[in-house]
Amino acid sequence: MVKMDMLSMTIEQWKAFLQTIGEPAFRAKQIFHWLHKKQITDIDHMTNLSKTLREKLKENGKIAGAKEVKKLVSKIDGTRKYLFLLENGSVIESVLMQYDYGNTVCISTQAGCRMGCSFCASTLEGVERNLTAGEMLSQIYEIQKDVGERISGVVLMGSGEPLDNYDNVINFIKLANDPQGLHLGQRHITLSTCGLVEKLYELMEENLQITVAVSLHAPNDAIRSQIMPIAKKYSMEQLLKACKEYSDKTKRRITFEYALIKGVNDSDDCAIELASKLHHMLCHVNLIPVNDVKERNYIRSSEQQVRNFARLIEQRGIEVTIRRKLGSDIDAACGQLRRGYQNIEKMI
Ligand code: SAH
Repeated sequence: MVKMDMLSMTIEQWKAFLQTIGEPAFRAKQIFHWLHKKQITDIDHMTNLSKTLREKLKENGKIAGAKEVKKLVSKIDGTRKYLFLLENGSVIESVLMQYDYGNTVCISTQAGCRMGCSFCASTLEGVERNLTAGEMLSQIYEIQKDVGERISGVVLMGSGEPLDNYDNVINFIKLANDPQGLHLGQRHITLSTCGLVEKLYELMEENLQITVAVSLHAPNDAIRSQIMPIAKKYSMEQLLKACKEYSDKTKRRITFEYALIKGVNDSDDCAIELASKLHHMLCHVNLIPVNDVKERNYIRSSEQQVRNFARLIEQRGIEVTIRRKLGSDIDAACGQLRRGYQNIEKMI
């Protein structure tokens, strides 16, 4: 028998299960509370449940979360990178970033990634499997316990393509948002995608208030398809049309992420072309000087060119920010997260 994945269950699903074993519905909230407010990892710690019910839970279910195997703390900015082991032996990475306004956790949504972006380490060995909603939550819970402070923001920017694991990601957002659990405001959740157009249309129908970030990284298809295989499937025109509809429908501003790679996508012409394509949209551009991935030989743009690129976009009426580089001494910056055991060896 396949055991229930307790951390991924909604209160409604708990109620349905409890009914099948003849337990009252109010137990659903109690169990949910233990799992998502108290964030316990052992069924025997659910002390207000009868021993019989606990035994039934153990028989039918399991708490399949993430276990910390290693933690690295950046000497530069205090950013923490965690290596987590999942129940089936997969290893994933997550990052804690501490800002003046609170703690943000960057979580992985898949072990590995199959999108193949040429500048990113997460995709080097392909995808191993999708993470469950519970495994996504557990990364936050474990980090929250480790820092002893509330996590106020979550970005789905670790390894994996969130929209390639659509159902689990939507379930994760709903569970994280539940007032009976972590109660994280949807506006404090950012989902970053390389742009799976059909899934973006599905996402707009969910009526969520999350922030969507789209990895654009180029002003046109010719450059984009050199560095992102997904650009061969969906044209920029299709992608930008979906983004426009997304922001029109949800009234949420889209963030466009743009990793600046020297000589590839960082010319003045690129900035001008990018601005011309975005001028009609409720959006914001986040520039990321590309981070090192040792298997690749991309070079980040000079600081001067990053500022110049930002100015050219801003002058054309589009809001732009430059992402701070955090945790680079521990390979915790954007695009540096990986899957697999070789990390453990490297980190020990
Ligand atoms: N699959 C999702 C989320 C993962 S990555 C996506 O594609 O958006 C989060 C962000 O980091 C993305 O914008 C990604 O393109 C960017 N990124 C990947 N590798 C990078 C690198 N080497 N330097 C800077 N940013 C990188």
